[in-house]
Amino acid sequence: MATDVDGTLTRDGALTAATLGAIEELTGAGIEVVPVSGRPAGEVLGLCRYLPGVRKGIAENGLISVVPDQPVQFIGRPTNPARLREVGDALNADHGANLRLAGDEFCRVGDVAYERDGRDVPELMRLRDAAQAAGVFFVWSSVHVHLAERIPDKGEGLLQMLERWGRAPSAVATIGDAPNDAGLFTPGRFGLTVGTADVVAQAQDFPHLPQMVTSGRELDGFLELARGLLDSRGVQNDTH
Ligand SMILES: [Mg+2]
Repeated sequence: MATDVDGTLTRDGALTAATLGAIEELTGAGIEVVPVSGRPAGEVLGLCRYLPGVRKGIAENGLISVVPDQPVQFIGRPTNPARLREVGDALNADHGANLRLAGDEFCRVGDVAYERDGRDVPELMRLRDAAQAAGVFFVWSSVHVHLAERIPDKGEGLLQMLERWGRAPSAVATIGDAPNDAGLFTPGRFGLTVGTADVVAQAQDFPHLPQMVTSGRELDGFLELARGLLDSRGVQNDTH
C-alpha cells in the first residue's frame, strides 16, 4: 500500500503507537507500506529508516525516491532548485513578496518551499500570477508555498517507481487525506483508492474522488484500511 503521511498516518500531527502497530502488522504480513509524502526527502528518509518494515518512500510530492543508505533519486526529470530560488528572489525584489525559505529547506532535494506566513488567498494569487509570468508554478498548502517546474503529482511519481520496482499498480491500494493526494486517486491508476473522511469536506478541491472513503478521519481512516487489507489476507486481529 502507498500512504500519505501527514493527516493520514498521524493524529493531531503525531505518529502514535497505533500507527506503529498497524504498520508492523502490515509489513509482517507481507504487505509493503510505502510513505508518499509532500515532506522533504530528509524527513521521509527518517520514516523509511525507523518505521517497522518500511524500506522505501517517495518525498516532495512525487519528485524524489528515498531508500536508506542509497543516494536519493529524482523520479522524473531533475528540477533546478537554484533557478526556482532565483524566481523567488525576483518575487521578493520586484513584487514585494517577502518570501522566507522554509525552515526545512536543507532537507529538500528538488522542491523549493517558503513559509506561507499566513498569506491570504488573494495575496497568494497575486504571487502565483507573477511566478507564472516567469514560467514557474506557484502552489500552496496551509503552511508552505512552493515554486515548481511541474504541477506536483504524487500518483505519477508512485507509478514510475512501481514500474522500476516491478510492482503492478493494480495490486496497490493508496490512501490520503488532502488535495495534494489527488494524483493517488486518479481513476485507472491503482487497484484501490481510499480517502480518509477528511476528503468529504474538501471534495470541491479534488479533480476526482477516491473510490472509497473511510468513516474515520486521519489515522483512524488509515487503521480502517489496514484492518481491511489484513482481514483480506486472513490475518487475525490480535489487538482486541
Ligand atoms: Mg496529508
